[in-house]
Amino acid sequence: SVKYRVTVVGSGNWGSVASKLIASNTLKLTSFHDEVRMWVYEEILATGEKLTDVINQTNENVKYLPGIKLGKNVIADPDLEHSVKDANMLVFVTPHQFMEGICKRLVGKIKGDVKALSLIKGMEVKMEGPCMISTLISEQLGVNCCVLMGANIANEIAVEKFSEATVGYREDKEIAQKWVQLFSTPYFLVSAVQDVEGVELCGTLKNVVAIAAGLVDGLEMGNNTKAAVMRIGLREMKAFSKLMFSSVKDSTFFESCGVADLITTCLGGRNRKVAEAFARSGGKRSFDELEAEMLQGQKLQGVSTAREVYELLSQRGWQELFPLFTSVHEICIGRLSPSAIVEYSEHTPNFS
Ligand code: NAD
Ligand code: 13P
Repeated sequence: SVKYRVTVVGSGNWGSVASKLIASNTLKLTSFHDEVRMWVYEEILATGEKLTDVINQTNENVKYLPGIKLGKNVIADPDLEHSVKDANMLVFVTPHQFMEGICKRLVGKIKGDVKALSLIKGMEVKMEGPCMISTLISEQLGVNCCVLMGANIANEIAVEKFSEATVGYREDKEIAQKWVQLFSTPYFLVSAVQDVEGVELCGTLKNVVAIAAGLVDGLEMGNNTKAAVMRIGLREMKAFSKLMFSSVKDSTFFESCGVADLITTCLGGRNRKVAEAFARSGGKRSFDELEAEMLQGQKLQGVSTAREVYELLSQRGWQELFPLFTSVHEICIGRLSPSAIVEYSEHTPNFS
């Protein structure tokens, strides 16, 4: 029978934790090779050393996940094409803005029977409409691509605190089950649903709502206002997803990838944190500047996703139907002040 080889493309905060989870399972499961290759976007640390060398010497990603052993079977590889060449299962987990370039580099460089999984929360905007990252991967590389999303703040999973996640698949339930098997541990409970777009849109859009929640925190509006913004945001997530893909199921919003991820990100995520600082500065400091200062190399997804959503809404003249999504973008670019998040979101239209 086939023995699967896994490569993780990406090694940021979540990429490193995903590698640790997978590596603990490949050691136990006989249908997988022990070694997990992790592609690292190479960088030189302040000490002058290469990040990949330090990861391979210490078994820790000292920059993006310090203090956590990844497992000795995780091998950091700075060469993208080399890292994927023997793999038959590819896990993509980079900030979404880098995926178009990565896919281009991988065309013709992967094996014929590869299965892909995207942990990436984001999308690209094309003339025809939204292109989800899993679609980008499957179209560019000609592979089956499932997604895994959920209430998964990486630092909490790194110390093995219990959480859940959702795998979204299109048709092939057997492939989805293989991904479930690769990720499941007693502290990481994964279930699969047949709604790849719904799962991926939940993970993507909740980052915009998390910006709104962070603004409310920075304005010190209190818990009721924050809950209201989360509710309005969830409603816009559902309406937007269904307008873009009529196949999206209501039940998906009740999975870990839906309401649970929305809650955890609005309480403890990076998008929330930076948006709070932005509001506290009265909108005077830019998101780019705050991201660089507060996250030290980690990347926000909510600001660019708000812009992408805004582009899609303006293409169709639908801004008024989505006051929260629209005002998050206009606040991020400085057209509106942070307090507009409450003033504008109050005027919510009724979706039938
Ligand atoms: P991160 O934000 O911690 O780190 C940024 C990564 O981007 C680093 O690995 C860096 O080396 C890399 N990078 C920088 N420039 C690059 C370039 N030009 N090309 C390629 N890579 C480059 O990363 P992360 O937290 O692993 O996030 C990856 C995805 O996972 C995102 O879509 C995010 O929304 C999602 N996610 C994150 C978490 C979390 O808690 N961190 C949880 C769930 C999902
Ligand atoms: P942030 O990127 O806002 O930290 O959200 C992490 C996440 O997606 C948790 O599931």
